[in-house]
Amino acid sequence: MHHFFRTATVSLTPNLQAQSRRTPPSLSQQHRLVRFSLKFFSLITVVLVTAALISAALAAVADAQPKSNETRTREVCITFDDLPSGPDSDVKTLARFTAKLLQAIKSNRVPATGFVNEGKLYHAGETDARIAVLKQWTDAGIELGNHTFSHKHFFDISVDEQKSEVIRGETVTILLQKKRPQFFRHPYLCTGQDSAGKAQFETFLTAQGYLAAPVTMDNSEWMFGFVYTDASKRGDKAAMQKIAAAYLQYIETVAEFYESFSRELLGREMKHILLLHASLLNADCFEQVIEIFKRRGYTFISLQAALEDAAYQLPDAYIGARGISWLQRWRITKGLSPKPEPPVPAFVEAAWRVRTK
Ligand SMILES: [Zn+2]
Repeated sequence: MHHFFRTATVSLTPNLQAQSRRTPPSLSQQHRLVRFSLKFFSLITVVLVTAALISAALAAVADAQPKSNETRTREVCITFDDLPSGPDSDVKTLARFTAKLLQAIKSNRVPATGFVNEGKLYHAGETDARIAVLKQWTDAGIELGNHTFSHKHFFDISVDEQKSEVIRGETVTILLQKKRPQFFRHPYLCTGQDSAGKAQFETFLTAQGYLAAPVTMDNSEWMFGFVYTDASKRGDKAAMQKIAAAYLQYIETVAEFYESFSRELLGREMKHILLLHASLLNADCFEQVIEIFKRRGYTFISLQAALEDAAYQLPDAYIGARGISWLQRWRITKGLSPKPEPPVPAFVEAAWRVRTK
């Protein structure tokens, strides 16, 4: 603001001096000069008053915003599900975008966790190449968790099947990581058919040395991911750009939604866990996703660190086929109805419906 004002003064003053230096001004010229000076000084007054008003307004905004040390306390753990990939891609594309995504994760020092569906490794003639893609993650120092072998919906299968999905889902991960995975993520975020089955599965997980990894920032980013991959396969660059732009707007709305959800339910902003997928969309957009979270005052923490938040010990009595945020579950357990979540833009949902027909 001050800089702008100084520039304005410098550019106006020389004209006035040049005019008065030439010849002694006649009376009418003097009148004109006085009139001009008056105009000039009233302009100065307007500029000064405007500058004062704007700085006052800016000061008020600054006061209304959280202090910097408050915003710095925002923490999020970023998790990637459905490794080696959610949307179907040929293994060459998969290896290429995985490298790009991992580069962005590493250069931003994001302690991410990846959740594997080992069933996705077994493609005829591609198994070794797909295992190599998974190895890209462990080579990058990313911890891998178990997301079951074949991503079956826990609402549709028995507890015994759920258990075998876990055991079958850790073989390659153990070989690559040289230790058993410590985290487990429920497919579709479904924790079981009923309370008894849910408790039985939880006991099994604990006995196997697993920690369940809840999600607080749940979202429909996967839908954007699928239609983005489709657009890329048809070489539709315009559609890719449109989807990516909508995705970045959407993910910020999601962050904002769960920040206020947490404040409303817990009276503070908890250590969040964000669910994303290993997709071409995130490979192309991850730098911008990181920027959005940084701008909102976030630091990136590990899953272990996030789970230290006492909120994760809250009772969760939710049973349902729909996988929802743990914030919603804690709210439902309190006897409240779930909160409506940020919508996916109509054009993305329409493209998704067409592909699933
Ligand atoms: Zn999944």
